[in-house]
Amino acid sequence: MTSIIPNQKPVIRVSESGFRRSVPERGADQGVTVTAVGSTGLPAVEPLVTVTQAGETALYTQCSPADVEAIIDALEAAGGDVDDAADRAKKTPEAVVDHEPTATRLPTAGVPGLDTRARSVLGGCGWRRPTNPADYEAAAGFEPPDPEAVLELGASLRGRGWGDLCHDAPLAETWETVRGAAGSPVVVVNGHGTTADTLLLESAPFEVLDGAVALARTVEADSVIVYASAADDRAVDTVREAAANYPELPVGVDVVTGPPEYRAAEPTMALEAIEGNHRLEARLRPPGPEEVGLHGQPTLIHTPRTLAHLAVGLREGELPGTRLLTVTGDVDATATVELPADDTLADGLDAVDLNGRFKAARVGGRFGGLTSDLDVAVDPESLAAADLGTEGSVHVLAEDRCLVEFVGKTATFAAEENCGRCVPCREGTTQLAGLLRDIYDGSYAPEKIDELVRVMSTSSICEFGVQAGRPVRTALSEFEAEFEAHADGHCPAGSCLDPLEA
Ligand code: SF4
Repeated sequence: MTSIIPNQKPVIRVSESGFRRSVPERGADQGVTVTAVGSTGLPAVEPLVTVTQAGETALYTQCSPADVEAIIDALEAAGGDVDDAADRAKKTPEAVVDHEPTATRLPTAGVPGLDTRARSVLGGCGWRRPTNPADYEAAAGFEPPDPEAVLELGASLRGRGWGDLCHDAPLAETWETVRGAAGSPVVVVNGHGTTADTLLLESAPFEVLDGAVALARTVEADSVIVYASAADDRAVDTVREAAANYPELPVGVDVVTGPPEYRAAEPTMALEAIEGNHRLEARLRPPGPEEVGLHGQPTLIHTPRTLAHLAVGLREGELPGTRLLTVTGDVDATATVELPADDTLADGLDAVDLNGRFKAARVGGRFGGLTSDLDVAVDPESLAAADLGTEGSVHVLAEDRCLVEFVGKTATFAAEENCGRCVPCREGTTQLAGLLRDIYDGSYAPEKIDELVRVMSTSSICEFGVQAGRPVRTALSEFEAEFEAHADGHCPAGSCLDPLEA
């Protein structure tokens, strides 16, 4: 296979989630190369059509299939001249960008939302063909890693997401444990659950696989298992194809799916799912998976985000120092952006249009913290100091949202979806949902709620129960007047339902 990147002939890329859905693929022998690439992470601008020749790219947003045909016709009529094609096309490009002719990342200048201060881990998304190894090779991928360099990066790289065995913690110590443990090490890529991880599996699978392979070589594992939700079928198909196309793969790679339930992303429940156990329960620790993991072997479990950061760090000689942030909720379309760690949550909202006036946001995943202040840096220390989650997401709530109803639904979800293994979480989430429902009957007991959440967060076996009370705790801290108003019989937002019936 040959790369489309260092190419003097015109190339049209069509970027959208579920790539290849509507692209009339054409080879260079037909004058203009037309090819499908993955999503940029910003569905609001997609299908995004880029027209590239000799270091110049025109970006056309929100293109219909008819637009794609019109742009191809315009480029052919213009003899491959990007500027002339832009004049001829019936659609106006959002931007025309000059760049290195051999660029291996999507040039994003001038496209709101894509135009963040950093785009390293997401750089190939919307630019490289996800399963074509030539494009990734042209971006300096597939280089055999130096284990010392891997360990050095692992000393400062921290795990991304609650599905990562080293959530927010440096990785190298756990890697050393696996190297010293008895047995045959395994590397699990836990791609279950978050929008950003699914995006990477779907749009930049070689980054993820390269990170996993580098790690497997470093800890002398001979097996990599990519684990994802069965509901994410496009990501699963894409990463399977990428693994099949990975040149001279030095370890075995299997792709395994698990049930779509939220809890199935918890690292030890992921192991249960991979082993084929129908009843998903978190495993007691110690020993942790790094000593006794998949089928009893020492096992590392990292998210695609973690491994893609590792791959980019190895390629570039240093970690990119960025965080992926997914913005969802009351917005025009969910967006995943990459930000320097000192950018704020508010910077991430530049990528979306809000549906209504901003009231609050749940920051850091399903069990993140509620806040109205998004002037918080996206690095994990700043988020934790503000009692927010570090999952890499902002769920926006417009002003007509009732926060009592919102946290009630979260508590009900936790009560219904926990695995039932430990009492603080199993009973605590049920009691929490009950206490929130009682508010609608005029019984508001903030001290009881506080104490219950404290017990859950300090006594639960896994992160599910540790975090499940945070939305309520943080909402009470900043928005207590809404709870008091409900106990007095009215909803300030004028919109809520009984949380247990909603
Ligand atoms: S905290 Fe919840 S999800 Fe985790 S083991 Fe206990 S009951 Fe299961």
